[in-house]
Parts: sequence; structure tokens; C-alpha cells
Amino acid sequence: MEGFKQVTVVGGGIMGSGISLALALSGQNVVIRDLNEAILNNALKTIQNNLETLDEMNLVHPSKTEAIQKHIKRVVDLGEAVAEADFIIEAIPEKMKLKKELFSQLDEICQKNVIFASNTSAFSITEVAKSTKREDKFIGTHWMNPPYLLPLVEVIPGEKTSPETKEKTIMLLKHAAKNPIICKDTPGFLVNRLHTVLLIEAISMLEKGLANVEDIDQIWTKHLGLRYPIMGPLQQIDTFGLDTELSQYSYLYKKLGEDKFKPPKLLAKKVASGELGLKTKKGFYDYHRRNVAILIKQRDKQLVELMKMLSASGS
Ligand code: NAD
Repeated sequence: MEGFKQVTVVGGGIMGSGISLALALSGQNVVIRDLNEAILNNALKTIQNNLETLDEMNLVHPSKTEAIQKHIKRVVDLGEAVAEADFIIEAIPEKMKLKKELFSQLDEICQKNVIFASNTSAFSITEVAKSTKREDKFIGTHWMNPPYLLPLVEVIPGEKTSPETKEKTIMLLKHAAKNPIICKDTPGFLVNRLHTVLLIEAISMLEKGLANVEDIDQIWTKHLGLRYPIMGPLQQIDTFGLDTELSQYSYLYKKLGEDKFKPPKLLAKKVASGELGLKTKKGFYDYHRRNVAILIKQRDKQLVELMKMLSASGS
């Protein structure tokens, strides 16, 4: 499969400038488009500053920064910005009407084979795609902020997105050293859905007077934030024991009566069939071919390294 001649990023704000830099770092030619020269100048300044940070952290060689900047062209005129593009990423404000208007306009002026990707944080990709006549070439790419540093990108096919569009999008992201994950077209996709539960619960605990602002934040900086770089939530449950978690959730649900604590049926099913996690060598993952003692040792060593690194950087 061939690469892309040019990617046009429409919108040069926080995400558009960051996505443009992420792509340019991989050698991809990028055109960045915004409403006027002043906004584009700002976007370029932001890109330069971010590139400087990468340089200071030895993530790019100083001799390469000029070449990286040359990969990014800024253009105000929409027709000119997309004339040579074979892939377009939209990063304009999170307003359904604005996005639909833009895509409908792009649909009129772009070649039929050009792929359209939206960076929406939550809108239905299927719905936005309907503003075009190329629903098969329409996809969601939800980049994380800052896009030039964070590896994960959610890829969201809509109802009519073709397998080829999905494949080409993944190719572009992998070429930019990103880690794409495929998501269903569901509100908030995966990242925001998971993150929102946590953020709302933090505010709700504060509102109920269960702890003060600083202590609630310390739950993350001194505990949960240290665990999550090493293991995702499902593997953590494997280490705790699915049976232990089920008992805890059942108690919370009984006492607090809130639906959000209702134990998922999948958890009860796994416990009933003896899939309790590391202790039975099967939970959400299968550990039959893995050495559990080594896994735990690795986790502990990574935890120590992480804590040392944070302590050295003054956290
Ligand atoms: P932003 O406000 O920083 O930037 C939006 C830019 O789009 C502005 O510069 C604006 O002038 C420009 N714009 C508006 N209409 C335009 C048009 N028709 N053509 C070209 N440019 C136009 O917004 P942002 O934070 O970069 O968010 C962009 C999208 O990315 C949103 O959908 C948002 O939900 C999503 N997103 C944001 C974040 C985040 O942390 N900010 C993270 C992930 C996804």
C-alpha cells in the first residue's frame, strides 16, 4: 500500500498544531489550514516551541528541526489547502454544525478518493460522515493531547467506513509511530468514557465532602497514577482477584445503591467459572504460558523505576 503524498490538517488550534507536528516528525508532508494568517502564525509558533521542547529532551536531533518545519506548509485558502491532499484530518471546534458544514464543503472540492478523518472527542462518526457522499472514506481519529508526545490514537470506523479506509488510516498512524486502537462508534469512544467516570467521581467525592481537593488529587499522584503506566485496568483486576473485586463491587452497590457500582455480568460469569485472575492463571488474560512470579517482579521493578524517576524530577 502506498503512503500519503500530503495530509491536510484543517484547524490549527491545540490539536491541529499538535497533530501536524506529530505527522511532520515522521517525514509526512503536512498542510495546516485555519481561518486567517494570524491564527496560522500562532500555530507555527506553537509548533516551533514544541519542537524546541523535543530537542531539549533529546527526542529530535537539532540538525533535523529545520527539515521537520519544512514538512509543514500553512495555507488559508481551503481549496488550495486540500488541492494535493490524499488524507484530511479535521480539528476544528467541537460543534456538530461547524463540522458538518466543513465536511460537506470539503466533499464538494476534494477528489473522490481522499479520506476524511474527524478528530472529534465524542460525536458520532456515522452522523458526521452523513454530511458527505463518501461515508466509506470517512473515519474518526481521536488523537490525545499533546499529540506529538502521546502514542495512543483512537480509530473509529463509522457504519459505512470501508476496510480499506480503516487500513490506510492505521498505516498513516503507525508510520507516525502512533499506537492506534479500534473503537466502536459509541459516545465518548473508549478513552473519554473511561476517563469521564473517574473525573465525575472525583468531583462528586469532593461535593459530598468525603475529602479535600488536595487529598483527592493525591489518590492519583501518589497511587493510581503510579500503577496505570504499568498495567491497564483489566490486568490490574487480574492481579487483585476477580472474586475479591466482585465482592467489593457488590458491597458498594448494596450500600450506595448507585448503578455505576453494579457489578457487570461478565465479572460474575468469570468468577462462577473459576477465572479469578493470576491466582487461577486465567482472568481477563490467560497466564498459563506465562511465569506469574516474573510478571510480578517486572511490575515491582517498573514501579520502583517510575517512583525513582518522579522523585528525581521533584514530583
Ligand atoms: P481549538 O479551539 O484549540 O482549535 C480549533 C481551531 O479551528 C481554531 O484555531 C479555529 O480558528 C479553527 N477553525 C474553526 N473553524 C475552522 C474552519 N472552518 N477551517 C479551519 N479552521 C477552523 O480546538 P482543539 O482543542 O484543537 O479541538 C479541536 C478538535 O479536537 C475538537 O473536536 C476537540 O473536541 C478535539 N479534541 C480536543 C482535545 C484537547 O485536549 N483540546 C483532545 C482530543 C480531541
